[in-house]
Amino acid sequence: MGVPQGRRSKARGRRRRAEIMKLKTSGFVLCSKCHEPKQSHRVCPSCGYYKNREVIPQEAQA
Ligand SMILES: [Zn+2]
Repeated sequence: MGVPQGRRSKARGRRRRAEIMKLKTSGFVLCSKCHEPKQSHRVCPSCGYYKNREVIPQEAQA
């Protein structure tokens, strides 16, 4: 039956959770143009650039 072998320490659980968070945030890079965090292989949501050219024209640019 599925019974825990023993109590897992706080650190152990936290370490495992930290690994999950790492996985969740993996695939994120900083945009080469605006240096905002964005998903790799995706158009940057803040400046609309991908591969150093504008893909989504931004109307409100500072
Ligand atoms: Zn950007």
